[in-house]
Amino acid sequence: METYDLAVIGGGASGLAAALAAAESAQTKGYPVRVAVLEKNPRVGKKLLTTGNGRCNLTNMHLTPDCYHGDVPAAGAILRRFPPGKIVRLFRSEGLFCRELDGGRVYPYSLQASSVLNTLRRGLESCGADMICDFPVNRIENIPGGFAAVSGDRKVKARKIVVATGGKACPQSGSDGSGYALLHPFRHSITELRPALVQIRTDAKRTRPLKGVRCIAVASLLAGGKTFQKAEGEVQFTENSLSGICIFELSRLAGESCAETLEISLDLAPEYHSDELARQFHAQAERFGSGPASALAEGMLNRSLASEVVKTALDGASVPAGLLSGGDCAGIAAEMKDFRFPVLGTLSWQNAQVTAGGVPLAEVDSGLQSRFCQGLYLCGELLNVDGGCGGFNLQWAWASGITAGLAAAEALVPAGKGET
Ligand SMILES: Cc1cc2nc3c(=O)[nH]c(=O)nc-3n(C[C@H](O)[C@H](O)[C@H](O)COP(=O)(O)OP(=O)(O)OC[C@H]3O[C@@H](n4cnc5c(N)ncnc54)[C@H](O)[C@@H]3O)c2cc1C
Repeated sequence: METYDLAVIGGGASGLAAALAAAESAQTKGYPVRVAVLEKNPRVGKKLLTTGNGRCNLTNMHLTPDCYHGDVPAAGAILRRFPPGKIVRLFRSEGLFCRELDGGRVYPYSLQASSVLNTLRRGLESCGADMICDFPVNRIENIPGGFAAVSGDRKVKARKIVVATGGKACPQSGSDGSGYALLHPFRHSITELRPALVQIRTDAKRTRPLKGVRCIAVASLLAGGKTFQKAEGEVQFTENSLSGICIFELSRLAGESCAETLEISLDLAPEYHSDELARQFHAQAERFGSGPASALAEGMLNRSLASEVVKTALDGASVPAGLLSGGDCAGIAAEMKDFRFPVLGTLSWQNAQVTAGGVPLAEVDSGLQSRFCQGLYLCGELLNVDGGCGGFNLQWAWASGITAGLAAAEALVPAGKGET
């Protein structure tokens, strides 16, 4: 049985950050520790490579507590200790240059997620850490002097363990929720889990004619007709769902069970007042004569979208533009400003970017050590913290991973080592 000082279960963003922080801090104190990352996939960092459409939006300089959900106050203390600027400086000290683009989003300068992964792997290799892949941990045993991470008939022994197995989102990248079961023997609880940052499912009859269309809109989530949350950006229509970053932002609430009817309202012309649009359409209607009424909206919208908006406004009636009344034109303008879709839930874990819910932060201390088992640390998406789009989830993964890694290293290095 291989023996390490620290075994990190899960070679994703938070696990790699935890392992690197632990290995480097112990080395700096002149007391190198043996660190292993245990990963179920054939390679570490599979999900990391897909983040930010392959560019890896690794943090966001405009971080505020509003960007997070779950156990926000406790998470805030960790995020304040390792804010975005510090994460960027830490990556720079490992050799990775970053650049800030729109909305405070930070990417590797190369705009390649592989640069981030390679930086972490190189750092770990230079500390002599092992990355043991094809090692799905199915049990953690408490043994004298530490723990054994068990994978079938193989075991790795370690004095301390960091569990960084992620959540249930995007199971095709490895994080299939199996990590939660590892914690049951230690009496940890898991809050309700829901897919977040995910497409919102709606009536396929409404979206099918628009499949593939993209538009810029202000999207509002309505409950019982009242606005709950708003987001602005690109909306994409798929076979049976609404997608795009602003829809992702609304998906956390859309997935919650709610007694009231949920709808998405799209304002397809946010810069214009409906009266202005109605006047313009009415003035043009006569000129468009026997042409289709949808031509009026085509001056603003994608052709398929214009056709659907006008069809909905006119209850499916096929009226030539020249015969539209002032009321019809006002109806088309109103539809453009409030184009509604019923919410039928969200798409599944396969489509989700993150997990809402997880292990409550009340069950770990400020170094993310389990309050139920000394020497066991938790970090990343496994915990009850999730962020909005824009780099906030990786920011949490880095900050929580580093916190757990440093605390584990601190507990491994004998008192007095590294002190001056
Ligand atoms: C398509 C996509 C794009 C995204 N883009 C961004 C973005 O641009 N910016 C952003 O901030 N966030 C983004 N996210 C979210 C972000 O990737 C995650 O929040 C983050 O990776 C979570 O890190 P983690 O280490 O907690 O979990 P993960 O990255 O999921 O890592 C968990 C690791 O543990 C391994 N594992 C699981 N169970 C076991 C086990 N039993 N034994 C051994 N190994 C195990 C998994 O294989 C995996 O490698 C994106 C997510 C997706 C799916």
